[in-house]
Amino acid sequence: MPDMNSEEERLISTGFREDEDAAEVSLRPRTLAEYFGQEKIKESLSIYMQAAMERHEPLDHLLLYGPPGLGKTTLAGIIAAEMGHNIRVTSGPAIERPGDLASILTNLNAGDVLFIDEIHRLSHAVEEVLYPAMEDYALDIMIGKGPSARSIRLDLPKFTLIGATTRAGMLTSPLRARFGITFRLEPYSPEELATIVIRTAHLFKTDCDREGALEIARRSRGTPRVANRLIRRARDFAQVRANGVITREVAQSALDMQGVDPLGLDDVDRKLLHVMAEKFTGGPVGLDTLAASTGEDAGTIEDVYEPYLLQLGFLMRTPRGRVLTRAAYEHMGMAMPGNPEDQSDGQLRMNL
Ligand code: ADP
Repeated sequence: MPDMNSEEERLISTGFREDEDAAEVSLRPRTLAEYFGQEKIKESLSIYMQAAMERHEPLDHLLLYGPPGLGKTTLAGIIAAEMGHNIRVTSGPAIERPGDLASILTNLNAGDVLFIDEIHRLSHAVEEVLYPAMEDYALDIMIGKGPSARSIRLDLPKFTLIGATTRAGMLTSPLRARFGITFRLEPYSPEELATIVIRTAHLFKTDCDREGALEIARRSRGTPRVANRLIRRARDFAQVRANGVITREVAQSALDMQGVDPLGLDDVDRKLLHVMAEKFTGGPVGLDTLAASTGEDAGTIEDVYEPYLLQLGFLMRTPRGRVLTRAAYEHMGMAMPGNPEDQSDGQLRMNL
């Protein structure tokens, strides 16, 4: 699979960086109207934004969480644009020292949006700077050292912090408590994704019929970023092997060739399922053990692969680890190993 590494990178990374090739950036919707799906979030957001604008205040700080590629960064950009302000994009790991954050904050203009991706990865010292900034729009600076040290407070422009995370559970509670609004982004339905695929095809000046779009959508794991990636492969296939139009057959052939099956599972998903079935008789198996046995990163399994396998009902999380379900065995065309409880039940009946 020569393409696999770069594809994995696309899947796991978040933010503007991974979509950096020019074409992908231009795929980002710029207005709420062009941002498909997430209807509940959009409805609430438009109320909050209108209310804030009428009061001439910045929008409350906002926390977006959900798996990578669902549109957190895109939504932050849209909010800034709809509020008529600029956005400054950074990420938790990029802000190494409190001074880094202080300089970002002092360079903001009133109303600006500060977007911090992977906000759960901020260090404790940096978080401490963020608390007064979020709460009072203030920066506390220590001047001098030792007994003569004193703290002065600088006023900051009134800004909106938008934090994004794939793991809301890893946010510290003081930080979480300082967000006025929290939205959890949900995976998209195939119909919503098909609309996104048609929009992307249009931007690529490629013909894609509804059935073709739906086929790509069904294999996109509920994730717009994946849909936008798959449509490129279908476009190549349509151009070289068909008459340029992405139909259902074209999409099927193109994606089968990529190793993306009708449910959107790829080689890594299949490896995870097979290792669980073959090495661990279906589990329970812990995340770290699974990572070590498959050579995949535990964080990537947890953020990228597992949510979709859970959603499909192929995996279950139990206190003792992950367990494969009957549906997973059926999808792999394997027989489910005898359930010990069933056996003892059978034994019991025979004894009776
Ligand atoms: P995240 O920040 O959650 O990882 P991004 O905002 O980077 O996700 O979105 C990934 C890509 O998917 C974007 O380049 C954008 O083109 C597309 N996308 C995401 N959400 C939507 C949406 N609701 N409608 C249309 N395209 C979307």
